[in-house]
Amino acid sequence: MVHTGNGKGKTTCALGLMMRAAGRGLKCCMIQFMKSRNDRYGEHESAEKLGIEVHTMGDGFTWDTKNPEQDIKTARDTWALCVEKMRSGDYDLLVFDELVYVLSYKMLPVEEVLDEFRTIRAAQPALHIVVTGRDAPPELIEAADLVTEMTEIKHPFTAGIRAQQGIEF
Ligand code: ATP
Ligand code: MG
Repeated sequence: MVHTGNGKGKTTCALGLMMRAAGRGLKCCMIQFMKSRNDRYGEHESAEKLGIEVHTMGDGFTWDTKNPEQDIKTARDTWALCVEKMRSGDYDLLVFDELVYVLSYKMLPVEEVLDEFRTIRAAQPALHIVVTGRDAPPELIEAADLVTEMTEIKHPFTAGIRAQQGIEF
């Protein structure tokens, strides 16, 4: 499943899905690329209560580090954790939040990621994988079973309203 597009709702949709899946006893895990590993988001508090595993691996978005080599290394380390979780066979639903961002900024090669997904699809056909982020590359869209594009009609940010606790983080 791919959640892409410029509108708000890609990550929150994945969180909603995990909430539903956890209610059915599915084992869920979310791995967040790009977000800062030092920050605590609302979803971290709630996930803990629902028994949903969340790993936040990033240094924040690239404009925080301004160090492309560091960004690529962090992306690689985060992807290595994704691969470990997929191969473990321990999960029913895995969410790789902002993996699409990492692909669209060429911090990881799309082909490498798609090869791993193909192998996992053959080995564990029942495993659900969700990836989120703007500007999904065509190859990823082609490989997915479900693609939703969030379209911005209005966003309060344009009216100068900054990110709100509980709504954005
Ligand atoms: P959310 O986490 O709220 O579901 P998202 O995953 O769709 O949003 P991202 O592209 O991950 O959005 O954006 C990161 C941050 O930017 C989030 O805090 C989000 O609320 C905010 N945001 C999303 N869409 C817009 C937009 N169109 N204009 C301004 N800010 C946005
Ligand atoms: Mg998001």
